[in-house]
Amino acid sequence: MCPESASVLLIYTGGTIGMIENPETGALENFKFDQLQKYIPELRRFIFRIDTYQFDPPMDSSDMEPDMWSRLVKIIFDNYDKYNGFVILHGTDTMAYTASALSFMLEGLNKPVIFTGSQLPIGVLRTDGKENLMTSIEIAAEQDKEGKPVVPEVCIFFENHLMRGNRTTKLNAENFNAFRSCNFPALATAGIHIRYNHLFNYPKSYKQTLKPHYKMDSNVAILKLFPGIQEGVVKSILNIEGLKGVVLETYGSGNAPQKEWFTRHLSEASERGIVIVNVTQCSAGSVEMKRYKTGYQLLRSGVVCGHDSTTEAAITKLMYLLGKGYSPGEVRLRMNEPMVGEITIQ
Ligand code: ASP
Repeated sequence: MCPESASVLLIYTGGTIGMIENPETGALENFKFDQLQKYIPELRRFIFRIDTYQFDPPMDSSDMEPDMWSRLVKIIFDNYDKYNGFVILHGTDTMAYTASALSFMLEGLNKPVIFTGSQLPIGVLRTDGKENLMTSIEIAAEQDKEGKPVVPEVCIFFENHLMRGNRTTKLNAENFNAFRSCNFPALATAGIHIRYNHLFNYPKSYKQTLKPHYKMDSNVAILKLFPGIQEGVVKSILNIEGLKGVVLETYGSGNAPQKEWFTRHLSEASERGIVIVNVTQCSAGSVEMKRYKTGYQLLRSGVVCGHDSTTEAAITKLMYLLGKGYSPGEVRLRMNEPMVGEITIQ
């Protein structure tokens, strides 16, 4: 239920959802957020309070940077006691990165932070933005019989599915169902009713207090393997000055070429303190480094198992842990353990 006393803070960062077509040029442009009610008059029908906060100027999510993640953390922290939940309107392109990052940066979160956006601007007749926005607001305000928030974590709501933020990936650049959580069940599905799968909520205590973290270390890289990858490419990436962490996107269940130079560069980088995390290029499934010889040799080169992590969760978790100043050994250990439900260890 969403009681009259509930309140939601709607934060607009930018993205397609907040755009309208310029009648003269046909190009999509941002509109003033205070005009939102003009496009969605139904917003007035919510019986609880909805306040808004707008990034000025709004940004395309391709321009998102860790300092903007910190800005979002600060807005949520500053307003934490005033609202029951938060809805963040965000471009879809990097939404999965921002949602993953915030899941780590908002330690002790026990209120909903729901990311949503749309594939078609809100001002377009067939927009998916209206449904995404209305349902996200409802989920953010939803409380159980004891008045506790129903989904106290960072999520993405898109096309009828509420997914754990750090489990999602943008998989479709065209369809309305742009996001998927391939390795973890939906936390809720919205049809005639919103059905919550409480079983899959991240276990937490409501007594915990929010502890915001602002520092992310961007000295990281993603190295995606492909047949024919040259030694020079691997060597240059692993020798980038100041590099502290790498997400290695491998094949299948965590396999990589067996060439001598490949494992040598990985071993040398690990010895220099660079944390290398193995995630699969497949959309679903988990890395199992002991399954094949080709994966086993990575273990011997100091590579850490990323289990069933998305690339987005692995890279933002690395940035978070490195930002805390942990030693490479500590970062490796923590990458191997779930922090906020981002991985399942087989
Ligand atoms: N380029 C836009 C963005 O991510 C796309 C979108 O909003 O869907 O900001």
